Amino acid sequence: MMFTENRDMSSTISLPTCSCCHRHIMPNDKCVKFNCPDCGVDLIWRCQSCREAVRNYTCSSCNIQGP
Ligand SMILES: [Zn+2]
Ligand SMILES: [Zn+2]
Repeated sequence: MMFTENRDMSSTISLPTCSCCHRHIMPNDKCVKFNCPDCGVDLIWRCQSCREAVRNYTCSSCNIQGP
């Protein structure tokens, strides 16, 4: 059985947003992602420049700020 459905993968990629600077994180960015240590609900993304600058993130679920 062949899968003939051809999906266009180039236009519908949704990039994650950095929780610190709110910029889109590129796929080749050396970013980190982790769940909020307080509520565990929100997924915190941190881009490479925010990691290096050790910027604070803000959880959008419980509004804690942390390094
Ligand atoms: Zn950032
Ligand atoms: Zn949280």
